[in-house]
Parts: sequence; C-alpha cells; structure tokens
Amino acid sequence: MSRIWVLGAGQLGQMLKHAGMPLNLDVRPVDIESEETFPLLPHEQVTAEREQWPDTAATRQLSAHPAFVNLDTFPILADRFTQKSLIDKLGLATAPWQLVETETSADDLHQQLGERVLLKRRTGGYDGRGQHWLRDPGQDAIPDDWHTQAIAEQAIDFDEEMSVVGMRGADGQCFFYPLTLNLHVNGILLGSVAPLARLAHLQAEAEQMLATLMNDLDYVGVMAMECFRVGDHLLINELAPRVHNSGHWTQAGASVSQFEAHLRAVAKLPLVEPRVKNLSVMVNLVGVDKDDAWLSVPGAELYWYGKEVRPGRKVGHINFCLDNHADTKAALDQLQPMLPGHYVQVLDWLRSQLD
Ligand code: ATP
Ligand code: MG
Ligand code: MG
Repeated sequence: MSRIWVLGAGQLGQMLKHAGMPLNLDVRPVDIESEETFPLLPHEQVTAEREQWPDTAATRQLSAHPAFVNLDTFPILADRFTQKSLIDKLGLATAPWQLVETETSADDLHQQLGERVLLKRRTGGYDGRGQHWLRDPGQDAIPDDWHTQAIAEQAIDFDEEMSVVGMRGADGQCFFYPLTLNLHVNGILLGSVAPLARLAHLQAEAEQMLATLMNDLDYVGVMAMECFRVGDHLLINELAPRVHNSGHWTQAGASVSQFEAHLRAVAKLPLVEPRVKNLSVMVNLVGVDKDDAWLSVPGAELYWYGKEVRPGRKVGHINFCLDNHADTKAALDQLQPMLPGHYVQVLDWLRSQLD
C-alpha cells in the first residue's frame, strides 16, 4: 500500500484520506501542531492541504522530506505579492494591483487604482479575512501594520465569480473540470453550481490560463483558480495550490473527484479527463449546527467535518447531483427549512441558476 503524507489535518486532508481508501492509498493527514516523529520513508510522497504553515516540529519533518511535491510552489502562491507578480509575468489577466509600500498613502492608491480599493494581507487571509476596503478618497487611511504586508487591488465590478479546478501530472498532462459558478457572501463561499452550458464559451480561456500557470510552476496535482467574469472575459482573482472548496461538487458529480485526482497525480497513477455526470450543486455549511434531518432530503450527500461550530466557520457541505433540474430544485426546497434563514439567499441563487 503506498503512503502519502498530507501537511495539515483539516477537512481537506480528511477528504483526501477518504478518497485514497478505494485506491488502496494510505493517506496520512498530519496535524501541524503534532509533536510526533513520523516514520517518513524515502519513497513516500508528501503533499499539503494548505499553502502556508508555521514552523513546527511536524511541518519541519514533512517539509524536509525530499519527495514533498510542489514544495517550491507553496511560498510563491501563499504570498499575494509573489502570486500576483507571477500572474503578471505570464501575461494573464488579473485585477490591477500594487504593493502597499512603506511610503504608500491611501491617496496614492486611489490615484493609481480608483475610488474603490481593496487591501489584502499578503499572507494568511482566507474566507475574506485579512481584507480592508478603501472606499472614501480623502478620508481613508491604510492600517499601520499593513505597509509592506499587503497588496492593494482595484475593485472589480464583476458580473459573477467562478473558478476552474485543474490537475497536472508529472508528465505535464493537464485536465480540467468545467467552470464552477460560485456565490460568495461577505468573502466566504456559500454555494457552487457546475457545469453550466452558458459558461462553456469561457472554458477554453480558463483552461489556457490555469495550464499556463501550472506549466510554468511545473506543478503536479490539483490547483484551483478563482476568477471574476467581466463580460466575456475572465480576470484571475487568486490561486490555490491544492484541492479547493469550489471543487467539492466533484465528489458527487464527476467520475474522479478533485481529491482522487490530486492523489492520482501525486502518486503518479494515471490521470484521465474526469467524466462529469449531471449538474451538481454544493451548499456550504458555515457556522451551522449539524442536523440529521438533512439526510432525509433525497439525493443529499453530506460531508460533516466534525469541527466545533463557530460563526463564520466552514463545518460541512452538502452535494447534490440529481437526474434533472426539477429534482435538484425540489431537493433545495426541501432543504431550505432545515437551514438558518439567511440560507434562503443561497438556495434562491442556486435555484435561479437552474432555470
Ligand atoms: P478564499 O477563502 O477564497 O481563499 P480570500 O480571503 O483569500 O478567499 P479573495 O478570494 O481574494 O480572499 O477575496 C474574497 C472575496 O472578496 C472574493 O471572492 C470576492 O467576492 C471579493 N473580492 C476579492 N477581490 C476583489 C476585487 N478586486 N474587487 C471586488 N471584489 C473582490
Ligand atoms: Mg484565498
Ligand atoms: Mg478566494
């Protein structure tokens, strides 16, 4: 049985482990705070479920292993400054941006980037944390400790947000899932739907962009690219060198899930074009208590992460991949009273994509 070590033991690591079982892959997520000594063997591969990690006993052991796949890519993509610089270097479209330098003022940023400017911490931000809007030219100030530690982006008046999840093998072959349409509320992903025929004309552009990035990085495994659609074009928002929340629908809707695809690539097993079954929807469970009634909804495929429930925390998701749109809508109707009131907005949005 081949063994693959995963730096990080959150839900992504757990779902990688789950996906490894039918392939006879022994996937071992490692808690970054662990004090254990791990029996890493030279032929075993190491991967990660997160792009950044603190220096701990556990992360030191894993990152010292010679077979840590994509080790050089993580620091590049974990820092928005080097990530955006890479996107620019490759000539790919992204929101105009600049580094917030020691001398940069809010006025400078408004002058360069416009009336609405979004500051993003270079590292550590997720789910919309580590962001700060400048919306009032003349009134705004850059928080003190954000100088040199943040980038500034022009606000994009996008039509909608979508992502593409792709995979690349060690031989350089790439495959992609269809574009996923995403609903983010206050910076956090709440719902996804894929595939949508009306987005098919953007697929080639998305694949070309992500392939350019993965090839340049000589990347192996699954990578996600979040995008803004502006008219008929895509702007890259950000990249994740790992399996991604917006690809969770592939657990239900594709012959090979993103988790299996990542493991196949890392373990040097054959990669294939994933066959997409039917339209899938994913409802993210954020700060919601577990309710076994969800399981009574026909077609609901629940993934509960077993974490303590806190406001704004991702604690699970529910996938649906049903025969037709009417069944999907009926399932969402049935689910609605089982979720907190603010989910009406999410379910309405998902239903509206199925018309
Ligand atoms: P994630 O949890 O996906 O890693 P994050 O905290 O790293 O998120 P981003 O994806 O950069 O942050 O931004 C979060 C959300 O903020 C985006 O999904 C989008 O809704 C909004 N946003 C980000 N950048 C811009 C921009 N330049 N203009 C307008 N809205 C933006
Ligand atoms: Mg992010
Ligand atoms: Mg994001």
